[in-house]
Amino acid sequence: MVNPDKTMNSATEMSATENLSTEKKTASKAIVIGGSIAGLITARVLADHFDQVYLLEKDSYPTTAPDYRKGVPQARHQHILLVKGREIFETLFPGFDQELASMGGKTADHTRDMMLFSTAGLLPRFESGIELRINSRINIDWVLVKRVRSIPNITVLEQTAVSDLIKQNNTIGGVMLDDGRQLDADLIIDAMGRGSRTPKWLKEMGYAAANEEVIDAKLGYASRIFKKPENDPADYQAVAMTPIPTHNPRGAGLWEIENDHWLLTLIGTAGNHPPTDEAGYLAFAKALADPVVFNTISRAKPVSDIYAFRGTANRWKHYERLNSFPDGYLVIGDAFCAFSPFYGQGMTSAALSATELDNVLRKYKSSLSTNKEKLRRDFFRKAGKRFASPWTLATGEDLRWPDTSGGTTGFAIKASHKFMDALMPLSTSSKLLVTHFLKITNMKASPLLLFDPRILFQLFVYWIKRAVFRHETKS
Ligand SMILES: Cc1cc2nc3c(=O)[nH]c(=O)nc-3n(C[C@H](O)[C@H](O)[C@H](O)COP(=O)(O)OP(=O)(O)OC[C@H]3O[C@@H](n4cnc5c(N)ncnc54)[C@H](O)[C@@H]3O)c2cc1C
Repeated sequence: MVNPDKTMNSATEMSATENLSTEKKTASKAIVIGGSIAGLITARVLADHFDQVYLLEKDSYPTTAPDYRKGVPQARHQHILLVKGREIFETLFPGFDQELASMGGKTADHTRDMMLFSTAGLLPRFESGIELRINSRINIDWVLVKRVRSIPNITVLEQTAVSDLIKQNNTIGGVMLDDGRQLDADLIIDAMGRGSRTPKWLKEMGYAAANEEVIDAKLGYASRIFKKPENDPADYQAVAMTPIPTHNPRGAGLWEIENDHWLLTLIGTAGNHPPTDEAGYLAFAKALADPVVFNTISRAKPVSDIYAFRGTANRWKHYERLNSFPDGYLVIGDAFCAFSPFYGQGMTSAALSATELDNVLRKYKSSLSTNKEKLRRDFFRKAGKRFASPWTLATGEDLRWPDTSGGTTGFAIKASHKFMDALMPLSTSSKLLVTHFLKITNMKASPLLLFDPRILFQLFVYWIKRAVFRHETKS
């Protein structure tokens, strides 16, 4: 840990150190640690409130074309930007969506252009009006990095890893870089993702650790890109197949990304991870609940290796519950709350947190130096509230698997399982229910939408029909 006595005893001593900042001391400064999705959108928000924003990323970004990088290994796998997230990204970076389109990302109606399989079977194909843009994750990063670089008061420092925090009294006033240099700021934000070093740094400073809730359904991904043949008969741009608790732990997401490529992510729950060898990968695809995925890739040509991802547990570090925490320091994105990826909630949750950051900065920025504690408490509380719904969705489903570790299946979860089980058979015929589901999973509506009286009526009719059918087959 950095000894604060050696680094920030006084402003004079601080300026005597090799300080990266060239701003005059009175200019307000913010630092974001980590330059993936959460870090990029956070830097964009901070640029509206601070004179100078530093985005510190330990990797180098690709320079000539979108590419993978070490710090974001999950980019090899399916990445769905939910409708809500797409809207927020567009607000923060006007023209973002069109840039993705110009790079080959196509839009797809969620039901007309996609084959979605619920636990009950194939959902109806119809025009829902709910639209996704399908592209690879590296294209999203490429556009965001380009846009952030173009903001005059953001300085992007690549190959710049933060190794520690600099504390003075109860305030974090700067960061120590791997090469020994220091950078000071009025507000510092951890966007280091699942590998966040904040818990370690805070512990070394003597703060109590945040209680971390971990719910792990032992979900594993294996992904590969295929070239779609010309004149392929597929009348869909994507196929999404959910594992079926507790009978079939296999699922898949097949996405027509840019360049006429299919990105196939095979998904295995409860430790039934998809293999990464050629034969095992194909055998896993063949054993899916429906042959459409296997048939589609059988017509296509593999153009990448097979990449695996494990370590997908839901992890919520409850910073919003901590009483003792340094001022001038916040945590955002996966570093705060990381979701099991199946529902594609990570990028959108990070965007919602960035929106809350904007709100609290508007409230406290004019008197930041005296309101750092209020800002921190407000931000953690509001961001935490935003996690509640996606957390319940992700963990609620994960808790159906007996092998899931962490969490408890209390009354509320059991009741929601029963309700969802009752609704599921309707999902293969009710367009209204499917549309409601998609609005909820795309974070455009509250789960309470499922209590729509029209849905409850459909459920009632279904039960009556089922009872009559059972009675007739018995007699
Ligand atoms: C397999 C998988 C699939 C997913 N699918 C989806 C999906 O479909 N939809 C969706 O919305 N989300 C999805 N997610 C979640 C999504 O990837 C993340 O929520 C999103 O990337 C935001 O994360 P982040 O920016 O907080 O952290 P990360 O993306 O993990 O980035 C952390 C960044 O911090 C940098 N860094 C780390 N330590 C330091 C340091 N000391 N100094 C400087 N820089 C540092 C890293 O290099 C990296 O760039 C998925 C996740 C996984 C694992």
